[in-house]
Amino acid sequence: MELSRRGFLKLSTSTALAGAVTATTVGAQSTTENAQAVIVYDDGPVTDYQKAFPVHKDEGVPASIGIVSEWVGTDGSGSMDRALNKKELTEMESFGFEIMSHTREHTSLKSFPLAKDIAPDDDRAYPNGTHASHPFHAGYEVEIYDGDSSVTRNIVGSGRNDDDELYMKLDKPVGMSFDADSARERLSPKTMRYILRDSKRTLESYGFTVDNLLAPYDHFTEYSEKFTKEFYTGVANAIDSNGINQRGEIDPYGTRRDYFIEFTDWSAVRDELDAVAEDNALGIFGAHTQRDEVTKSKIRRMIRAAKSRDIEIVTLRQALADAGFGATRTTTTTNTTTTSTTPKTTTTMTTHPPSTDSAESSDGSMLETFESFGIVGGVGAVAGFILGRRSESE
Ligand SMILES: [Zn+2]
Repeated sequence: MELSRRGFLKLSTSTALAGAVTATTVGAQSTTENAQAVIVYDDGPVTDYQKAFPVHKDEGVPASIGIVSEWVGTDGSGSMDRALNKKELTEMESFGFEIMSHTREHTSLKSFPLAKDIAPDDDRAYPNGTHASHPFHAGYEVEIYDGDSSVTRNIVGSGRNDDDELYMKLDKPVGMSFDADSARERLSPKTMRYILRDSKRTLESYGFTVDNLLAPYDHFTEYSEKFTKEFYTGVANAIDSNGINQRGEIDPYGTRRDYFIEFTDWSAVRDELDAVAEDNALGIFGAHTQRDEVTKSKIRRMIRAAKSRDIEIVTLRQALADAGFGATRTTTTTNTTTTSTTPKTTTTMTTHPPSTDSAESSDGSMLETFESFGIVGGVGAVAGFILGRRSESE
């Protein structure tokens, strides 16, 4: 893809801008015709603070970070040395970073097929598929279901059989038969609401503003959306694909996100940035800073590439607000190179979806849109508990 005409025009001025921290003026318009990009970091490792934050501060641009609420201030999980703590998160939010929920405990929000049939006296279910994380979450309630029947049980543990197949142990026998060809398992509505609501409330209790969700493992389906929309304005990664969201077609629960360092190559990212600039679209791009290949210089390369194309880097909150969704919240991130003044974030009134226990989702009007979610799957699983790319269809 060749550089757009717009890109050429902007190059003539980019020299003058090079090195200067771009003032990220947000909240000035209720809609925007400008090219924008959201940079998303997953999981809340301390490396967000060590690698990404200094570069973003230096470049004067925000990011949106997905935080697992039960990991804040802990040793974290998987490949991260430790998770971000409240102090670091507070500093990052004060600068202009958006804190998003990444669920309570990094739980997949989609359903999984079963690897084995279930007999009435079985108290195990074998979810099948990449990142079938439900067995790891004892205490959560799960539904085993097919087109005709549904049984709800509590997860009490997990294990692997002699063939190394992962299973979840249930609190009591399922009580009926399910055929692996037609049955699936998923978190019950009660648990879906619990983990989505609790994560948001916990992060808010630390003083953070939480409007949006980052879905673990890039798993987001019609079922995920049904509950997410009760608590969140949008999701950062509904579709793992290219990161281009066309202006006028932006759907807060149908966002397309790509990666910009891992799982891709730089020429592909440049092409996507060219397209974002040319179409004045919204680009959403993510990275896992706990990965060794995610370096400060590659983060800076991404930010500079966006700037050189005159793509405004904003938070997802701002991008969705500019697209007419969610908030009347106004966030202003101010940066200069001439002072060391801490950038300010000003928060004004906001409107939220209701965060109530009783909120029953009865609105299925948007759900049809998402039936084709699985089509981008099959890219291949990646090693690591929390770093996998994709998912199969629900
Ligand atoms: Zn994650």
